[in-house]
Amino acid sequence: MVDKPTVGFIGVGNMGWPMAACLAKAGFPVLINDQRREVANNFVQQHGGTAPDTLKQLAAGSDIVVTMLPTSVIVEHVLGGGDDNVFAGMKPGTIVIEMSSGVPSVTQRLAEQVAALGGHMIDGPVSGGVPRAKTGELAIMVGGDAAIIDRAMPVLSAMGTSVLKTGAVGSGQAMKALNNLVSTGGFLIGIEALLIGQRFGLDPAVMTDVLNAATGMNNSTQKKFRQFVLSRGFNAGFTMGLLAKDLSIALQVGRETGTAAPLSALVKEMIVSAEAMFGSAADHTEMAKWVEKLVGEELKAH
Ligand code: NAD
Repeated sequence: MVDKPTVGFIGVGNMGWPMAACLAKAGFPVLINDQRREVANNFVQQHGGTAPDTLKQLAAGSDIVVTMLPTSVIVEHVLGGGDDNVFAGMKPGTIVIEMSSGVPSVTQRLAEQVAALGGHMIDGPVSGGVPRAKTGELAIMVGGDAAIIDRAMPVLSAMGTSVLKTGAVGSGQAMKALNNLVSTGGFLIGIEALLIGQRFGLDPAVMTDVLNAATGMNNSTQKKFRQFVLSRGFNAGFTMGLLAKDLSIALQVGRETGTAAPLSALVKEMIVSAEAMFGSAADHTEMAKWVEKLVGEELKAH
């Protein structure tokens, strides 16, 4: 039997921790790094593996390196920019899987640097949030060389049940940002419709049920309106700041490809305004409150 590859996992935050835990549970030897050293140590105590002192040591001991970090700027720093970095220790043949929701053009540039060092880089951002990260049931959008993706498949399959190849490196991250753009547009138009309906005399809860039985249904009408907006809970667990970042990436891809996207720009501006009003740490479902402020009344389910 061939030994499982050693996975160096960088960034064990809300998403990275449960994802790395899935790898450890599946029997992959793991080397863990996080800027918050105590969090890396806690992970090792709870799930096994090792937390090397440096990124250089982590890279030297890994066959596959996974990054699950907030932004591409940080990924760039960790891979090659900082004093201690992955490139300083990376063995030829290493596969780097960039799983953050990052900027495709930055990832493409990093992939060239990885290739120049004899390694391979693919991107595999995820959808499904913390609950599906915990159960290893994420949707993973993977961009890069198909043969390299196949080699990384056992690692990806330990974290996700739906692993979809999207094309060249960076395409997974473009897809991820565009998915969140569509999802946000569906949320905002739905909230506007509920407010118009409420003024007309309709009950927003009944409206949500009708939309879900009719062609106006989308992920927000099904999984967010009753659960997080009409309940006034606003606790879906994904922040406004990260959503605003994703929409900025979607618009950046639009600009880089010379694609006119006026509606997308409006959706992004609405989220940036909501972020300014409620703060980056607010739950993304609070964008409903921003639309309510524009209209001048709150949604009330009867
Ligand atoms: P997080 O802030 O909870 O975790 C990020 C981790 O990276 C933290 O533990 C932090 O200490 C660590 N870190 C930061 N800088 C570092 C550095 N220089 N070196 C080493 N470690 C460093 O973020 P998250 O919610 O886990 O999100 C990670 C990525 O996944 C983001 O790109 C996000 O957009 C994306 N994402 C998040 C969700 C979600 O529901 N939270 C869902 C899908 C995708």
